[in-house]
Amino acid sequence: MTKYIFVTGGVTSSLGKGIISASLAKLLQARGYRVTIQKFDPYINIDPGTLNPYEHGECFVTEDGAETDLDLGHYERFLNVPTSQANNITTGRIYQNVISKERQGEYLGKTVQVVPHITDEIKHNMRILGESGDYDIVITELGGTVGDIESLPFIEAVRQFKWEEGSSNAIVIHLTLVPYLAAASELKTKPTQHSVKALLEYGIQPDILVCRTEHHINQDIRKKIALFCNVNINAVIESIDASTIYDVPLLMMKEQLDKTVLTKLKLAHKNEPDMESWKDFLGRLKNPTSEVKIGLIGKYVELPDAYKSIIESFVHAGAKNECKVRLEFIQSENIFADNVKEKLQHFNGILVAPGFGSRGIEGKIEAIKYVRENNIPFFGICLGMQCAVIEYGRNVLGLQNANTVEIDENTPHPVINMMESQKNITAKGGTMRLGAYPCHLKKGTKAFAAYGKQNISERHRHRYEFNNDYLKQYEDAGMIVSGLNPENNLVEIIELNNHPFFVGGQFHPELKSTVANPHPLFIKFVAAAMEHGHKKTN
Ligand code: GLN
Repeated sequence: MTKYIFVTGGVTSSLGKGIISASLAKLLQARGYRVTIQKFDPYINIDPGTLNPYEHGECFVTEDGAETDLDLGHYERFLNVPTSQANNITTGRIYQNVISKERQGEYLGKTVQVVPHITDEIKHNMRILGESGDYDIVITELGGTVGDIESLPFIEAVRQFKWEEGSSNAIVIHLTLVPYLAAASELKTKPTQHSVKALLEYGIQPDILVCRTEHHINQDIRKKIALFCNVNINAVIESIDASTIYDVPLLMMKEQLDKTVLTKLKLAHKNEPDMESWKDFLGRLKNPTSEVKIGLIGKYVELPDAYKSIIESFVHAGAKNECKVRLEFIQSENIFADNVKEKLQHFNGILVAPGFGSRGIEGKIEAIKYVRENNIPFFGICLGMQCAVIEYGRNVLGLQNANTVEIDENTPHPVINMMESQKNITAKGGTMRLGAYPCHLKKGTKAFAAYGKQNISERHRHRYEFNNDYLKQYEDAGMIVSGLNPENNLVEIIELNNHPFFVGGQFHPELKSTVANPHPLFIKFVAAAMEHGHKKTN
């Protein structure tokens, strides 16, 4: 029988519910339990796919092609188990399901209401993964903060769920903030008390409180929180600021969060969590023997969350290489022919990021020309790969005004074209080429050397592709197509061999990098940047 854990948040947003959920899941997994995490978001979009990255950070794409919240990226990076559409549900999707059932007559004769119809649909979705039989424990993170108007139906659904399942089958962990008032030199518990009171008003007694804090919470404060919030003192968990999110599982282990959870769920404690490989990763992360500087060129650089998975992929690949990756963000709109050298010459590697639309694209192309000509390691992802193709077309093949039709519909050389399958699509939500597709690698290439095998699978999110009408011209001019989709010959990876590292992928490798499995292309790119650094100092 599956057990359920709900994670809610109070006081403020951004307390790190996703990281706490992922850390708890990691500890339970490390004890031998099969765990998954799902995120329920209170906004009305069907999924975050149509949101600007400035609104909501990166859109994380799953194997089955769902466009989801970036917290699913953390779940995968911590657990090394893929998530799917079922792991991310929004208010929009819940209402869409209920309204289409209403049209089909499933509620014939009834007034369709928030309670019970919307809450029933929420509870049904909360149980889908549990009922699959694949998991012993399902953790459900509720987006938003308790008291928000839009999260009310979810909170009510949790109340009903807890009542239906019983207190040892469904528990609630509430995350709050314990702020430090410098003027009083004191940690304050009142916001936590108020936040729990708000939950109690909706009929939910939290089982465990995780208190985010900048200073250690002493025994007296724990006692006070326990007393005012009706929880055991060992259910008051300190979550102190950490230097890296990857410390949090060990911090939670020290606080015995996993033990307290298992006791409340009446589950066997089994073995102590086996965190050896995790500690090994942390050891390498924290004791680098070298350092590289990598520039990330993109147009959403003011909000690093827009590139969350890329940033984390560098953490994993850096640790693997025992190398500290210093990542600097560069706004592509500010790169021009007359400043590109000054902006890029001190980097050991340049990554050109994914993106949509024309803003900043010429700066990306200018940057790629510079790193190609100056032997600086280059890694292009999706739009970054497409820009590398455009640059090579314009500057090596002499295809004047070569472009992607996304930017210039009338370009004389549409080297990046709209995919045939995309041409008749007008709707914007969930209609790109999404999710995992196979790719076949050519032997003797950098890509093959990185993966060490010929058949791979990577995740996608795009509408445009390399135009195979130009394939021969590119190959004749020295560009190597090292990865192709075996079913339809879509170009998946391009590279150059007269360059230390010049690789572009149409897919998103960053979506598959985890602590346990750092991505091979990121590992090789960081290694190339290290090599570049050595050469420079010698
Ligand atoms: N805008 C490009 C396309 O749709 C690239 C997308 C991306 O970088 N994810 O093909």
